This record gives sequence, structure tokens and C-alpha cells, in this order.
Amino acid sequence: MNNANLSDRDLSVLWHPCTQMKDHENFPIIPIKTAQGVWLEDFDGNRYLDAISSWWVNLFGHTNPVINAALKDQLDTLEHTIFAGFTHESAIQLAEKLVEITPPGLNRCFYADNGSAAVEVALKMSFHYWRNLGKTHKTKFITLENSYHGETLGALAVGNVALYKATYAPLLMDVITVPSPDCYYCELGESWADYSTRRFALMEQILAEHADSVCAVIIEPLVQCAGNMRMYDAVYLKLLREACDKYAVHLIADEIAVGFGRTGTLFACEQAAITPDFMCLSKGLTGGYLPLSAVLTTDNIYQAFYDDYTKLTAFLHSHSYTGNALACRAGLATMTIFQQQNIIEKNHQLAKVMGIVATRFHAHPQVAEVRQTGMILAIELVKNKLTREPYPWQERRGLKVYRYALSKGVLLRPLGNVIYFMPPYVITEAELEWLADIAWQAIQHAVRD
Ligand SMILES: *Cc1c(COP(=O)(O)O)cnc(C)c1O
Repeated sequence: MNNANLSDRDLSVLWHPCTQMKDHENFPIIPIKTAQGVWLEDFDGNRYLDAISSWWVNLFGHTNPVINAALKDQLDTLEHTIFAGFTHESAIQLAEKLVEITPPGLNRCFYADNGSAAVEVALKMSFHYWRNLGKTHKTKFITLENSYHGETLGALAVGNVALYKATYAPLLMDVITVPSPDCYYCELGESWADYSTRRFALMEQILAEHADSVCAVIIEPLVQCAGNMRMYDAVYLKLLREACDKYAVHLIADEIAVGFGRTGTLFACEQAAITPDFMCLSKGLTGGYLPLSAVLTTDNIYQAFYDDYTKLTAFLHSHSYTGNALACRAGLATMTIFQQQNIIEKNHQLAKVMGIVATRFHAHPQVAEVRQTGMILAIELVKNKLTREPYPWQERRGLKVYRYALSKGVLLRPLGNVIYFMPPYVITEAELEWLADIAWQAIQHAVRD
């Protein structure tokens, strides 16, 4: 078994996510044999540093001994059971833990099995809540420009990344899109807080105008990850929470990507000291092991569904694998590592080092911005540093970075022309240093000619 023959077999039967499969006529798909910590190893013995946490899911390294041991134990006890009418210990313990660690007031946990499904649940719950209260005119959602909330039709509709959305536009529900607080566009000398505050006026205006027909505002707190890692200040969340209360509109915090320490705090909402009405969690929830998501919500919302069956107010939404025991157990082990190993505190130092190793990129002639929020660092490549004119997308500069870095043993997967580091928290300072070296070389290679 080697890379070449597995690659051939793969390409004759498989269809991969987010991929123009024809690209693989020019470069092979990489079959991974084993993984440990931040390292992936293929069938030819090449190693790759997983600098993007395998699409932002992995927190404590691959084949983590603590999570492995928990899963082995769970496997011999209970693999899965129906979750309507039945329950199990791991689902209960994980829900108790999530209620404990999420912002105060979030004390109900509804499980689903992936991030998009969690977003669908939150959207449906919000709409249904207002309906149960007799407010049937509330049918719309407000979303931010350049936001991303997943790929299923409801989640895609509330997202705003054209690359994923435009094709399917005829299938999608109408939403109200508000200009983003994305601080890439702040004026010279203007602080992120000032810019985010200024941009909030546009949101306030839309809320004032449309609140009667709106169920909820959905946002990615602090970092619009799939939208090229664009960032904004926590003041926006604070203002948004106040306005949502004022206009009787729910706030859905999609922390699927930014949750579990990515922004420096356990949850991004903590930085604004707010409690959303719904918080969507997935990705890091199981440490990157198994598909699972959770929607946390308040007692108030839960109570609006709680009545005699014949009133038909129940939330009759389900997924076959809701509350999967293995996934919940992986989640529980992940939460244990956070607490026992003091991760959030340790990450402060790691985030600092990440900023330091990336210092050199600020002066690079093709870099418009180096931005960082906690454990996410992004480097924006442009054709013209002064005017910030972007490279034409057809040139696929990011792909050149990807391919060069892979040849040197680093897995980076740029979003367009944005190179970012979003590594597992077990990466060492020396590995960060090396990662930055390779990223530098890869950029030099990609901007040539
Ligand atoms: C990844 C992501 C989703 C979708 O999660 P999937 O598990 O891929 O369906 C939703 N929202 C945000 C912010 C994400 O980053």
C-alpha cells in the first residue's frame, strides 16, 4: 500500500468535499495512514504538521491518549442508543458540563450531529418560539455580510459567502443582510472598537426597521472564519445583545468555529460578557474525533415549548444519531482536558508566541494585514499593499501556498488569498516557529511572477 495506489483507488470511487475533483488530475490526493499530536503521516512516510486542525476541529492533537482511553471504554459499554424516550450517562454528563461552562442562562442542551444541523435547529427553534407565543409575523432572519453558517439549505441561506451560496440562491429563503463590522476596512488610525461601534449603527437601523418580522440575528462572534478569517471587536456583540433585547429579537451565536478556546477565551461571547439566546457548538466539541453538535438555549425558550402534547407546541425535530454515545464521550473527555490541563491559560502564552513568529509578515510587500484573535492568526495576501488591490482569484495564489507548504511538510489550507494558522493547542513553540518559516517560504513562492 502506498500513496499512489490509494490515491488511484480513491479517485475512482470518491467525491471529496469542497473540491473541484478535476484539480486532482494535476496533484494527488494524500492518503493518511496514521496521525499523532499535530502530525499526520501518509503511506509513503511523509509527515505534515496539521496547522489548520483538520478543518478547525482538532484541539488536543490526533490520537490523543486521554480521548482514546475514554472512547475505548465507551465502546465496550454503549455505542449508541435512540435518544427519544431514552438517555445515557455520557449525554447527561456532557450536557451538564456544557451548561456549566457556557455563559450564564444557557441551561438547556439540544444535540445534533454536525454544525449545519445545529444552525438549522437554532433557526427553527427561534421561529417556533415566536410562533408558540402567537407572533406568527416573525419569519425572517438577519445575518452579516461575509458570514458563514454551514452548507445545508437553511444554514446556507443565512450565510453570505458567494462562492458557496450564489449557485443555490434560487433554493434559499430570503434573509436580511447587514454590512459587516469586519475591521479589515477600518480607517487608518481607527481602532477596531471604534470601527465596530460605528458599523453597528447599520445593524441598529435594520433592527429598528424590521424587528416585527424578524425572529433572530445570527452571527459568528469575533471572527468570520470561512469568510477569510475577518475579525471585529467584542463591543459589537455587546451592542447587538442590547439591541436584540430592545427590539425583542433573538441572538444566535454560532460558535461552531470560534468556540472552545479559539479566540482566547473558552467562548467568544465571554469577551463581551453576553449570553446569546442560542449558542451553536460543534467542531472542537469532540476534540476533532466524532461528529456532534449542540445548541444551548435558555429556560425561557425551553418553557415556550413545554405544554400538553395536544397543544402541538413541541419541537419535533430529530436526527437519527442525536446524542450519540461515543461522540458525547469524546466531548466529555475533551472538556476534562480543558479543565485538568488549564488549557485556556496556557493558550495565552501560545497565542503570544504565534503573534511573535508572525511579526515578520507585517512588512512583507504582498501582505496587507496580519490579524490575530487568540489562537487564530491570518495573513492577507494582496497584489498591491498600498491600495490593497487583491490578487485576481483566478490566479489561485493560495493554492500555490498550499502546495508548496505541503511539499515541505505543513498542512495550510488558505481561504482564497488568506493564509491562516489555527493549530491544535498541543503545538509547541518550536513548531510554531518552523510553521512560520515554511509559511514565509510558501508565500515567497506563491507571489513570484
Ligand atoms: C464549520 C461551520 C459550520 C458548519 O459546520 P459543519 O459541521 O461543517 O456542518 C457552521 N458555522 C460555522 C461558523 C462554521 O465554521
